[in-house]
Amino acid sequence: SFPAETVPQAPEDPLFGLARAYKADNSPLKVDLGIGAYRDNNAKPWVLPVVKKADEILRNNPELNHEYAPIAGIESFTSKAAELMLGADSPALAERRTTSVQTISGTGAVHLGALFLAKFYKGSQTVYVSNPTWANHHQIFSNVGIKVAQYPYFNKETRGLDFDGMTTAISAAPEGSIILLHPCAHNPTGVDPTLDQWKELAVIIREKKHFPFFDCAYQGFASGDLARDAAAVRYFVEQGFELVVAQSFAKNFGLYGERAGCFHVVAAPAADATTTITRIASQLAILQRSEISNPPLYGARIASTVLNDAQLFAEWEENLKTMSGRIIDMRKALRSKLEELETPGTWNHITDQIGMFSFTGLSEPQVLKLREEYHIYMTKNGRISMAGLNTNNIDHVAQAIRKVVG
Ligand code: PLP
Repeated sequence: SFPAETVPQAPEDPLFGLARAYKADNSPLKVDLGIGAYRDNNAKPWVLPVVKKADEILRNNPELNHEYAPIAGIESFTSKAAELMLGADSPALAERRTTSVQTISGTGAVHLGALFLAKFYKGSQTVYVSNPTWANHHQIFSNVGIKVAQYPYFNKETRGLDFDGMTTAISAAPEGSIILLHPCAHNPTGVDPTLDQWKELAVIIREKKHFPFFDCAYQGFASGDLARDAAAVRYFVEQGFELVVAQSFAKNFGLYGERAGCFHVVAAPAADATTTITRIASQLAILQRSEISNPPLYGARIASTVLNDAQLFAEWEENLKTMSGRIIDMRKALRSKLEELETPGTWNHITDQIGMFSFTGLSEPQVLKLREEYHIYMTKNGRISMAGLNTNNIDHVAQAIRKVVG
């Protein structure tokens, strides 16, 4: 049997609890700023027009069936996913020192990476994650026996990056630690290092022989520019690092529930790099087999259709600009309304931050007041999903924030 001492009741995932409370609220004023998914200006999920086209193409293809995908996934998908992340002209691709495995979206990619490192990484079995980070990082790594430590990231005063704290902690970490990095649109803060800061980080990570683990869930979704959002990863690869990347297609294709993702390993340049990567690929295949046997087809087929067709790819880039552009507009609108209302404090961080989320700096009592009195739902740490804002609710949100801030 499973007594409560050995199987205690686990707390509910805070995001799902928030979603439930939002659903139960009957006020017409209610605003959902908790969700980690894009919404259009009418607060509705948005199926990308290019995804609709790809879907149509797939449905009209009589050759397609429901056979198993290969263990490492659909090759036409994983090869283009690697080009997208690393750049089609990446030296690592030209030198055949990368391997890519299709995963259950970004979560599955982080998990496969964690599992691989737990089994085969001979450096320190501690991963350093930003404080704060996507909460799931803690569970994913600890579940496979990798210890989780933190480096400072968010400066509460400036609501920007605590670069000194970050570099000091990464320098002080035991040699050969795993360093988890968000290449763009950091979740939950929306604060990213600049390219110059990434260069400084690369120097420290090299000196300390640390192992970079990039978790990229928002490529193209942050700035609207796929290359710019992957610049950190590409810089580290150019510098000759051995590294891994978890890549999600949930946000940038709006394929959340379809679970399309990829895990990439890049070996350092060396005469035997291709044989190293072949060995790694063989072990990843065994791990994948024991975890999921074969990855799911549909999301990867959609992404692959777009990634392999120049015209559809160009349309996708337009769709990305629509999403990132609307979010950037909402950032500008929220900041300017808060400033117009002479809301105490500074609000430049709303437009300085990037991507789906913003760390507003609102305190937990303020967050709860917004929920109880104004029907505005956000996580207790003051994180808001910019995608939940639209031209219909932005005045209500700005005025409510003005009132709770004092
Ligand atoms: N990593 C980060 C930092 C995220 O924010 C997310 C999604 O919110 C993910 C990974 C994984 O998302 P998914 O598994 O839906 O691709």
